Amino acid sequence: MKIAVIGTGYVGLVTGTCFAETGNDVTCVDIDINKIKKLSEGQVTIYEPGLEKLFDRNLKEDRLHFTTSLKDGIQGARIIILALPTPTGGDGNADLQYILKVANDLGNLLKLNEYVVVIDKSTVPVGTAEKVRDTIIKTARTVSSAATEEQIAASFDVVSNPEFLREGGAVEDFMKPARVVIGTTSERAKKIVGDLYAPFVRQGNPIIYMDEKSAELTKYAANSFLATKISFMNEIAQLCERSGADVDMVRKGIGSDDRIGRRFLFSGIGYGGSCFPKDVKALAQSSREIDYDFKILEAVMQVNEVQKLHLFPKIKKYFNNDLANKKIALWGLAFKPNTDDIREAPALKLVEALTGEGAKICAFDPEAMANVKLEIGDKIDYAMNMYDALKHADALVIATEWSEFRTPDFTKMTSLMNKPVIFDGRNLFDLQQVQDCNFYYESVGRRVIVPATGKVK
Ligand code: NAD
Repeated sequence: MKIAVIGTGYVGLVTGTCFAETGNDVTCVDIDINKIKKLSEGQVTIYEPGLEKLFDRNLKEDRLHFTTSLKDGIQGARIIILALPTPTGGDGNADLQYILKVANDLGNLLKLNEYVVVIDKSTVPVGTAEKVRDTIIKTARTVSSAATEEQIAASFDVVSNPEFLREGGAVEDFMKPARVVIGTTSERAKKIVGDLYAPFVRQGNPIIYMDEKSAELTKYAANSFLATKISFMNEIAQLCERSGADVDMVRKGIGSDDRIGRRFLFSGIGYGGSCFPKDVKALAQSSREIDYDFKILEAVMQVNEVQKLHLFPKIKKYFNNDLANKKIALWGLAFKPNTDDIREAPALKLVEALTGEGAKICAFDPEAMANVKLEIGDKIDYAMNMYDALKHADALVIATEWSEFRTPDFTKMTSLMNKPVIFDGRNLFDLQQVQDCNFYYESVGRRVIVPATGKVK
């Protein structure tokens, strides 16, 4: 089947590559000329485990193509997938300008005798499929003035098909989705989109069919629920720090109840990324627009904002409120491991707060340093590797739980640092282990470890 994917970012590139992998002929369209040039030359533009191998194979097999022209991209396509940005708009809700611009362009290009399914994969507020449909019809009517609204409407359907992939595991999630949600009331579209996904659910995971609005809300409900779990555990961590309980013990204690589940119960320095922050905000705003005050979501956002800077007062207190020229090593910049995405990354909030008080930061991240350099340039130093960042550091701050940070050589760390001091925003280490290695160690929701020899100064 010929497919066009409009928007070739994290979702679009993974979607296009994975649909090519199941034998479809895919053209990815983007307005970013540089991105399309690199992709056409065989260069993968994002870091995502497993993507490069699939990308190379499908490019070689001539099933994956790239263009900046929407007209060329959708030529002969039976399915057009929108994987466009929906950032936070001025009012807090999702900004639909990118989606509606493409809908308008599609209206200009629509061929009345060639039925297409327009799939909306972007995360969008309830009612967007209807807006996309109306926009396409309105524009198409100005182009083909002889056609009736019914004739135009019969030539396409708009389906809401939210994407649930997680950055860092996107290929795996796409190839073996826990579920596929297809929102449409059109039987014709249902069959086409169902067939498209059939190869991905052979192990029995469900395709859940519903109406467009329910599908749109399902995505926001999923992300908001997960963000709620994180903020809830971060509040439990606050209680632990004040009461002497240990959040890891509490996590294990509640997670073994399968009504609660073990996943997404880790406390830390908050959620970030391109989805949770904007999606929680958008759902809260959409609720307000239909006269509902979604109280839990307001609390989830407030807790997360505070949590991003949870380590900051601890660091300040340790240095007696004087961070001027303190050398801080920072492990992790990406908003989570296995991605180079730094959108709303808690690490960047910490960088801003620490440098604002005169601290000097030397950071290391396995994948995200190039993106951070583009954003903040030489405001901080960048290390060659995790140990390089530690040279003469007065303290180490950990902001992202990359696997390679989990079992470091503590002896080597001690020899490189001015002081063996760690502020761990992701609770990577066992408390006994850091105690045995004579570190001063503060984490989230657990007791402070002070070396037997007393506070390291
Ligand atoms: P992204 O910013 O990485 O990619 C969007 C791409 O669209 C960019 O390359 C941009 O240049 C391109 N674009 C903008 N206007 C265009 C136009 N007129 N024509 C063609 N291309 C255009 O965004 P993303 O992270 O891939 O997210 C896309 C959507 O998917 C968002 O709604 C997001 O909320 C949702 N989503 C993202 C994830 C994720 O993990 N990133 C997961 C699920 C859902």
